[in-house]
Amino acid sequence: MRELSETRRAFHRAPELSWTEYLTTARLCEALEALGFEVQWGQTLYGLRQPSNPPDGETDRAAFDRAEQQLGAGNRYLSSMKGNRTGLVASLDGAGAGPVFGFRFDIDALPIREGGDSGHLPAREGFASEHPGIMHACGHDGHLTIGLGLARRLAASRERWGGRVHLFFQPAEEVAGGGALFADLPQLAEVERFMTLHLGILDRYRIVFDATWIAARIYDVVYRGQASHAGNAPQTGRNALLAACQAVQGLYALPRHSAGMSRVNVGRFHSDNAHNVIADEVRFRYEVRGGDNAICDFMAEAAERVLEGAAKMNAVEVERETFAEFSSYPNSRELAERVAATALGIGLPQALLQDSFQVSASEDAGFLIQKVREQGGEATHLILGSPVGGGHHSPTFDFDEELLGWGVLLFERLVMEGS
Ligand SMILES: [Zn+2]
Ligand SMILES: [Zn+2]
Repeated sequence: MRELSETRRAFHRAPELSWTEYLTTARLCEALEALGFEVQWGQTLYGLRQPSNPPDGETDRAAFDRAEQQLGAGNRYLSSMKGNRTGLVASLDGAGAGPVFGFRFDIDALPIREGGDSGHLPAREGFASEHPGIMHACGHDGHLTIGLGLARRLAASRERWGGRVHLFFQPAEEVAGGGALFADLPQLAEVERFMTLHLGILDRYRIVFDATWIAARIYDVVYRGQASHAGNAPQTGRNALLAACQAVQGLYALPRHSAGMSRVNVGRFHSDNAHNVIADEVRFRYEVRGGDNAICDFMAEAAERVLEGAAKMNAVEVERETFAEFSSYPNSRELAERVAATALGIGLPQALLQDSFQVSASEDAGFLIQKVREQGGEATHLILGSPVGGGHHSPTFDFDEELLGWGVLLFERLVMEGS
């Protein structure tokens, strides 16, 4: 348990944003190779695949330089990751025959300045983020710690289990890019039993075996019109700003679906024009969500009509581009039930066990779950719930480190039992 806590705290100190998890990936690669895992990362792992929504060049350079400073120039892991090829897959064979297991752990952090209040454990105990403005505020430092803890146990007990294990340390969950890319990896195509987990979420102690997440689509929009003098000749302009404002109003007024929950939000909106000019260009980003993929599609199509209607009303052009997507896919009930039985078997208290839960947030593991299930395998998403400090994505987010041991033990036992 102490080793897990120390690992978690070391990674908590050094958080990295989505697609820039250079230091995190290099440290994981080194540790996993030392344990005897076959590790694939960087160019070899990505092949021709490209990160879908990497950050701007400046953010990327800062992260790469920082990793290079820590690891030394020419580090064999780092050099192959250039261009946001972060994350890794670590594989190990057991002694006998058995199924192919896949466990997925996301590894990215968020653009949040960590709280320094003494009520926040990482600040009080001296392991708060050392990377300004970046924080592990969703528990992914805990996820990757469980992955590494599981790897240590499986390497030590290799003679006592059968089959093959792939550990997927996935980048860029928070921007929904890594999941779709990792779903396409050849290692996943072999997987027969797939599991992933999230810490926290419920703000109380609970272990959920069949957690589903809502689908989401995030889009970038640009409206283009015609500039003109706002006093002299407003009639010759075509107002992109007005169109965009009407579109935003229309998005929040979308009709809803009776089959399940839906959401819509516009989180950023930008226009650079002067006060005395009819605005000719506006950009914004919006998201729609749905309780399942079909509801999400319904919202996305209705939103597109609103965007086009607003463009038409103002005689301007509109372009829409997908920024990211989160898929929602049902888990395998049989696997969830077997995981529940295993949890009881290792002594986790019955009172903490919960069969299912729908989270009102999105997770790009849905792509991996869908892939495994479509190829005939079983897959489920677990939650190891605990109180979460100020809440997920807040400057005082935290979780109970006790959960780390539970996660390792549960996953190790599932492999031992051949599930
Ligand atoms: Zn998150
Ligand atoms: Zn998360």
